[in-house]
Amino acid sequence: MTTNIDFVDLKTQYESISSEIDAAVREVITTASFIGGRFVKSFESNFSQYCGVRHCIGAGNGTDALFIALKALGIGPGDEVITAANSFIATSEAITLSGARPVFIDCDEKTCNIDLKRLEGAITGKTRAIIPVHLYGQMADMHGLMEIARRHGLYVVEDAAQAHGATYKGQAAGTFGAFACFSFFPGKNLGAYGDAGAIVTNDDALAARARMYANHGRIDKYDHVFEGVNSRLDGLQAAILDVKLKHLERWTKRRQEIARIYDEGLKDIAVTPSVLPGAEHVYHLYVIRVRNRENVRKSLKEKGISTGVHYPTPLPLLKAYAHLGYRPQDFPAAYALKDEILSLPIYADMTDDQAGRVVRELKNAVCTEGSLGA
Ligand SMILES: *Cc1c(COP(=O)(O)O)cnc(C)c1O
Repeated sequence: MTTNIDFVDLKTQYESISSEIDAAVREVITTASFIGGRFVKSFESNFSQYCGVRHCIGAGNGTDALFIALKALGIGPGDEVITAANSFIATSEAITLSGARPVFIDCDEKTCNIDLKRLEGAITGKTRAIIPVHLYGQMADMHGLMEIARRHGLYVVEDAAQAHGATYKGQAAGTFGAFACFSFFPGKNLGAYGDAGAIVTNDDALAARARMYANHGRIDKYDHVFEGVNSRLDGLQAAILDVKLKHLERWTKRRQEIARIYDEGLKDIAVTPSVLPGAEHVYHLYVIRVRNRENVRKSLKEKGISTGVHYPTPLPLLKAYAHLGYRPQDFPAAYALKDEILSLPIYADMTDDQAGRVVRELKNAVCTEGSLGA
């Protein structure tokens, strides 16, 4: 009997590191280090080192991290913030939450990342910042983007929620913008056992402001300089993340090995991910393009293989943004992608056999569905 292949498998990961995790959790509880404290400090220090930045500020989740970064930059009502049409809604929610207006631009059809050719045309007198999303684990073209941002005096906040450890031309995700924001949602490449996130920056003053904003605007227990929010990384999640961070590099390498198996096995039957020269993709998601996507998904499901779609509707075309008045023809690339993209199972604990089975079943599905040549 063959077993199912889940889209992500966090149970097998836990089994492989359970003694370390259990010890860390026990230590947090027995020392009652629930809010703040040494486990949070330790993770913040280790994660900033991992990213190669001066400061890391824990947050309650990745959405809050983006919101806090925008507030720390003083962005609010009357401002516009440009971001990519294809991302998770957290990116644009953070913009709206700050009081600013999201302005969406189309993606590059190959990488699915923000299309720099369309960027300058979207900049107005109200634009204050750009949020590039390092989608699927591959960085946006940050050198080009930073150049445009500099020319127009705009802040850049990287949405690095899917890109822990990704690099482009030797420079890591999180080191380009005024801020970069990470999510440690359980299924992310570095995942907590609940919600968690972080903001990183090289700027001392911005770091101090973001830290205050995330913690009730306080500099001391009851000394509140302004109103902020309560969005902190807690001790338990920090201790768990600190354990997992030690394994992240190895896990990333394994994701890349699985991606090579898929690349090789699928190149003749689907459009496999396009990786820019000089980019190190960390494969949070392995996204192919096929015709008859829904039928292919169904055939795979029948064989016990779970897949995903990231994301079925470009953000500006969601009901939530109907009031902004965007049309499909404003986003030809994102609109063309939406019915063909298919995310395959990928995680560090996947075996070569499992990856091989996905390739075989996908080939069968594509041939019977006549999806060839997408
Ligand atoms: C996961 C994700 C977020 C939000 O992170 P949460 O921790 O779930 O709030 C933001 N942006 C992108 C691109 C994401 O994938």
